[in-house]
Amino acid sequence: MDENCIFCKIAGKEIPSNIVYENDYVCAFYDLHPVTPVHVLVIPKIHIQDLEHVDESNSKYVEQVQLAFKEVAKIVGVDKTGYRVICNCGEDAGQEVKHLHYHMLGGKKLGTKIVHE
Ligand code: AMP
Ligand code: ZN
Repeated sequence: MDENCIFCKIAGKEIPSNIVYENDYVCAFYDLHPVTPVHVLVIPKIHIQDLEHVDESNSKYVEQVQLAFKEVAKIVGVDKTGYRVICNCGEDAGQEVKHLHYHMLGGKKLGTKIVHE
C-alpha cells in the first residue's frame, strides 16, 4: 500500500467510495465523475502504478481483476448489454491516478472505439 495513493485509501476503506464489488484481490467502485451511465473503476488491492509495473510478483492481482469484470458487470447490470474496458497507462494516455485501474463503461451504446486526438 502507498500511503499517498487515493485508490489504496479507497481499497483500504480509509476514505469513502461507492464500492460495488470486492474480494481479497480486487475492489470495484463507481467513478466520481462518470462519463457514461455506468462507469465503474476496477483496481487491484495492491499498489501497482500502471501496466508498466505489472510483473510476476503482482500478476495474481491483475489476473483477479480480469476475472472480476464479469462479476462487476452482472452487479451493475451491463452483463447482457455490454461494456468497454479502458486502462490508461502513463502521460500520453492521460493517466491521472497512479494506481492501476480499469474503467468499465456502459449503460448506453458507446461511440467511436478508438479516440485519436
Ligand atoms: P485516469 O485518467 O485513467 O487516471 O482516471 C482516473 C479516474 O479516477 C477519473 O475518471 C476520476 O473521475 C476518478 N476518480 C478520482 N478520484 C476518485 C475517487 N475518490 N472516487 C472515485 N473515482 C475517482
Ligand atoms: Zn495505490
